[in-house]
Amino acid sequence: MAENMTQHRVPFQRLKIASFDFTSCEGCQLQLTNHEATLPDFLGLLDVRNFRELSSERHDDYDIALIEGSISRQDEVERLLKIRKQAKILVALGTCACFGGVNSLKNRFPVKTLIDELYPPMNIETLAVRKISDLVTVDLSIPGCPVNKDEVERIMVSLATGSRVTLPKYPVCMECKAQLNTCLFELGEICLGPLTRAGCNAVCTSGKTPCLGCRGPAEEINMASFLELVKERGLSLDDLQEKLAFYNAFEPWQNHEA
Ligand code: SF4
Ligand code: SF4
Ligand code: SF4
Repeated sequence: MAENMTQHRVPFQRLKIASFDFTSCEGCQLQLTNHEATLPDFLGLLDVRNFRELSSERHDDYDIALIEGSISRQDEVERLLKIRKQAKILVALGTCACFGGVNSLKNRFPVKTLIDELYPPMNIETLAVRKISDLVTVDLSIPGCPVNKDEVERIMVSLATGSRVTLPKYPVCMECKAQLNTCLFELGEICLGPLTRAGCNAVCTSGKTPCLGCRGPAEEINMASFLELVKERGLSLDDLQEKLAFYNAFEPWQNHEA
């Protein structure tokens, strides 16, 4: 980590960071380059060694590797293993990396059928989608589709100062209720807010769109009582399963016996 001085002349280690995209839309990496108001301070924390969206520099001596995307090709597996060997801290950045994300929807179909139907007569190499932790040890997961830049900045400050990194343990409902939103269950919709880890400031439900759980499960969720709620309201269990499967973030509960 590169040493610098704070304005109070205290030595400060800039984080030697690299970022790599795999099967993804690059929306999470782009999110980190947004928000010009905080970008100079954010970059001040970092010694960018390899980050296509931020710099043309290319170096292999990084300590922190941000991994965006899920894994869907053999060459990605090999590249990921190489990055894992170099990185002291490997971060799964975004829902694709943490859970598989929307890419996982493809796992519902046989790979050959997909290629034959969508890309005839091309020969495309593709594997079933896997999240990063299926292949390597992940030191830190930052969920979100895309990630919340404020949260990433807070986490980078924690890493730079050696303090504990935390994510909210409570569900999106807490943030949604704090904004005095009408609950979407009252409007006949299934919303995964009671199950999902907060940290997005309930951005979807504040726009009257149900939460699809991109941030994954909150701590200590009660799936049984959530199922009861859906049934009591006469809402569709098939719709619930579609929503749970959308980001693959509720894998242990998908196809849960209703
Ligand atoms: S998590 Fe969402 S925004 Fe990030 S790379 Fe995947 S699809 Fe794109
Ligand atoms: S709309 Fe969704 S997130 Fe908001 S209170 Fe209702 S269930 Fe919770
Ligand atoms: S409301 Fe749900 S789906 Fe929307 S950003 Fe937040 S966690 Fe993701």
